[in-house]
Amino acid sequence: MDIAHANEDDKLKEYCGIIGVYLSNHDDNASRLAYYGLQSLQHRGQESTGLAVADGEKIDHFREMGLVAEVYNKEKLAALKGHIAIGHVLYSTSGKATIENAQPFVSRSKLGQIAVAHNGSLVNTEPMKEFLEETGSTFTSSSDSEVIIKLIAKNYKKGLERALTDTIQLIKGSFALAVMTEKTLIGARDPNGIRPLCLGKVQNGWILASESCAIDAIGGELVRDIAPGEIVIINEDGVLSFNFGEKTAKKTCVFEYVYFARPDSIMDGIGVLEARMKMGEVLARESAVAADVVIGVPDSGLGAALGFSKASGIPYAMGIVKNKYVGRTFIAPSQEEREAMVFVKLNALKSDVAGKRVIIIDDSIVRGTTSRRLIQILRKAGAREVHFRISSPPVKFPCYFGIDTPCRADLISANQDTEAIRQAIGADSLAFISMEGMIEALQSCEYEEEGAPRKSEPSRESNHSASGASNCGYCQGCFLGEYPMPMIGELGKR
Ligand code: AMP
Repeated sequence: MDIAHANEDDKLKEYCGIIGVYLSNHDDNASRLAYYGLQSLQHRGQESTGLAVADGEKIDHFREMGLVAEVYNKEKLAALKGHIAIGHVLYSTSGKATIENAQPFVSRSKLGQIAVAHNGSLVNTEPMKEFLEETGSTFTSSSDSEVIIKLIAKNYKKGLERALTDTIQLIKGSFALAVMTEKTLIGARDPNGIRPLCLGKVQNGWILASESCAIDAIGGELVRDIAPGEIVIINEDGVLSFNFGEKTAKKTCVFEYVYFARPDSIMDGIGVLEARMKMGEVLARESAVAADVVIGVPDSGLGAALGFSKASGIPYAMGIVKNKYVGRTFIAPSQEEREAMVFVKLNALKSDVAGKRVIIIDDSIVRGTTSRRLIQILRKAGAREVHFRISSPPVKFPCYFGIDTPCRADLISANQDTEAIRQAIGADSLAFISMEGMIEALQSCEYEEEGAPRKSEPSRESNHSASGASNCGYCQGCFLGEYPMPMIGELGKR
């Protein structure tokens, strides 16, 4: 569920969606396809959006606060002419949602123009900013992405490829990038592959997107994921791929599968819905309870609820209705308002729950606001018992790589054990999936290669320990406090 997470934290979270389109016919207009791509990535960010287009000679761009459907119209899209486009939707924390932070960023120099759209969060922004300021750069935003574009621009005289590889070796953190020059579209993914990026094909060109659902939306075919540490350069000659930097372990963000991504996306070979269903199946095995009905919290809890129902044999019902029109655009600055928001956003279906022992599944507990309110809603609707099951382990640590989790003081699981949380939210029982169970669920969905049978055993550097596993191919920083790279300066103190 995606109830408004107002966050008083002072770092801008770049937790976004990006799209890139390259059409080989120079008379075709890429902005329309990019627009449809952005619409299907809207769940990744609702604060601002932007598009930049290149026609072989120059780059034009447009950024505005608001939702994709509200911001663009036929005239605006028609005015953005060019066969290459990159686009962005931004999710930022309240107070940081300003037009200055909207992307793509565009830089102009004697050597040409560059546009950048970034999803992720750098952990060495400050030293990089200082380095750039010492050599004359000034900044107009608090966005990491401005640092990235300034670094590329600074190195541009060495040639595009060198400028990109040099920049990418300097920045540390999570990044999926769509970069554009007047003639070229470039995609890059950080060496740990923390944030997703995939490549698709349309009849007359190529697509880069945060999630495959955007490729589907514009009638394309998913070709493959961009590998961790890979750069792809797309131009008249086709797609050129090379790797930058040292080989590092893959550490894809687990929370993409748990909460963030759309269920119809396929990420690094794993169908998101399938992964959520598997998590539900494991949860049913790990924390079975006698009940009459299983329901899920829309939208991200539904897959796990289906899996729980399938594995336990307890019937699945809708149980909860979500108001589709209350989004993150409605920012709740106080805890009181956040709580009230749950009532506005969710309601119980009496006919599904009245007089019943209900198992309710959500993907995560962060502050505990949603679960506490949901239990009140279910009891008011007549549920006889309410058993809460969570398809991710307790979130105990902040994320520094782009997921909007608050500081430790606000994370209920950082401060209380499961029994104390159960009492605080008022459930009859509460259980989280284990770390091993979650990783097992993900690994059971991995394909060896397209079309090949599933791996029968947990896979990929899969010697994860009983404590839950640093070598399993996923970043679990928010659960374990073990991050893919060391934190720099103030960051580690949240
Ligand atoms: P809370 O109400 O603070 O415990 O948050 C848990 C709920 O928020 C769950 O329903 C999650 O689906 C949802 N959620 C988890 N992470 C996020 C996030 N980064 N942004 C918005 N919603 C989230």
